[in-house]
Amino acid sequence: MAVFRLDEKLRNKIMEEVYNEKQWEEEMKSPGIMIHFSSGMKFSFGSSLPCPQCETVGFYGPRISYSSNGTVERKYRACKFCGFWQEVSGGIFKERPETANPYRCIAVYCEKCGKDGEIFGFNWRLPWTDGPGCCPDCKTERRDIKWASDDLNHPYQKLKEQIIKMTK
Ligand SMILES: [Zn+2]
Ligand SMILES: [Zn+2]
Repeated sequence: MAVFRLDEKLRNKIMEEVYNEKQWEEEMKSPGIMIHFSSGMKFSFGSSLPCPQCETVGFYGPRISYSSNGTVERKYRACKFCGFWQEVSGGIFKERPETANPYRCIAVYCEKCGKDGEIFGFNWRLPWTDGPGCCPDCKTERRDIKWASDDLNHPYQKLKEQIIKMTK
């Protein structure tokens, strides 16, 4: 199970830092970065904080998920540019205490939903889940792809450039 695939030196640095709920709360205060598309659509991948692993701004941020009854299910942080993920509290944190250390999610792609857009079709799954799974939108089987940080032709590279210009 390839959970820890971070650069060794960087991983050691991150492991030395204690990331806890208090820090997560501090990070939650940082504003999000909204990308404006020519179609008029607006979309945000993350906050104005740089990712601890790839240092990309705009794709990383603290995140929260709720269960269907509105209670907090999970607090974590994630970068949708390089796959850096870390649990802070909630179900996964309890079931898999090792996720309190950074781990790398798996990038997946749906050809069908991704055919016309730069942001659609891309998704991610937890590394202990079997197979790339099916697209939640169109139910087509997805495939594993490289994270944007490992692929210079990934459409997120263009979005990264756009964010750099926006935040200069
Ligand atoms: Zn990153
Ligand atoms: Zn799809």
